Amino acid sequence: MKTLALALAAASSFVALSACADQTDGAKDKSACVAPAGDVNVYTARHYDTDLALYEDFTCSTGIKVNRIEADADALLERIAAEGEFSPADLLITVDAGRLWRAEQSGVLAPVDSKVLSERIPAELRDPGNRWFALTTRARIVIYNKAKGKPEGLANYADLAKPEFKGRICMRSSSSVYNIALLASMIAHDGEAAASAWAKGVVANFKRAPQGNDMSNIEAVAAGECDISLVNTYYLARFDTPEKRKVLDAVGVIFPNQATTGTHVNMSGAGVVKTAPNRENAVKFLEYLTSESAQQYLANGNNEYPAVKGIAPTSAVEALGPFKADPLPAATIGQNEARAVELFNAAGWN
Ligand code: FE
Repeated sequence: MKTLALALAAASSFVALSACADQTDGAKDKSACVAPAGDVNVYTARHYDTDLALYEDFTCSTGIKVNRIEADADALLERIAAEGEFSPADLLITVDAGRLWRAEQSGVLAPVDSKVLSERIPAELRDPGNRWFALTTRARIVIYNKAKGKPEGLANYADLAKPEFKGRICMRSSSSVYNIALLASMIAHDGEAAASAWAKGVVANFKRAPQGNDMSNIEAVAAGECDISLVNTYYLARFDTPEKRKVLDAVGVIFPNQATTGTHVNMSGAGVVKTAPNRENAVKFLEYLTSESAQQYLANGNNEYPAVKGIAPTSAVEALGPFKADPLPAATIGQNEARAVELFNAAGWN
């Protein structure tokens, strides 16, 4: 039964990557790859071209073929649950602390006791029970329109609710996990009452109803449609190209909470599925993802920070400057996300 389920899944929807398939640079030589050593089935919410080169590299050096299913995180979780004990899923890769926490809570992930993983991934970037491990991180930062000057008195997330910023702030919807995770972290640090008052204060300062995504809000601030917004670092780094440089040059950056709790960071991460038919290969692949070359692939492809310390991000990210990150455990963020959604709704942050 299990074999049949696997075969069907492989035939219908997996995107298989054969060992050392032709790479974009054509540099890999098939004859240099090791012999086949089984498969690993990856369910991933990441979908960057650079990740493909990474999978091919792993296949080439280990002989383990990587099969992928790509979908958004919630769909992947539902799929694993629906497939039950016959799920072909070995490894789940997803984005957002809350989703990793929910995957762990739903019992889909199994603990992995690996010296490699616990040595390379800092404690605050993995589940205390070792059921998931962060691969990359991104910070949620304040941007402002440089031509209008650096907003005075804006150093912390809390300041965005001050009355002097009335009519100056643009935000994306509160349905974004990036905003939900941030408010969840504020609940953990400051308590529900303060987090609720903050959401209401920011809503009172909106220039316009929440709209668009981080990219369009960066463009709105650069164009002076509004003065201030909150965005993820990697979206800003995407404007570090000759064609888009004008947008980047028009905005200033503030890493919030540097004198207090540190700037809020979110993550992408992975965990081995409890019913994994190829658990050993899954652990090998997960360990490989924390290697220096894999960390560079993962982080550089989307301008994120490598989860493993001591590995430099892209120059576009480095140009944003060093900062103190909030070490709040992802599990704490995850636990507060449902409440954060309620507070956003109550505040009228659509
Ligand atoms: Fe994103």
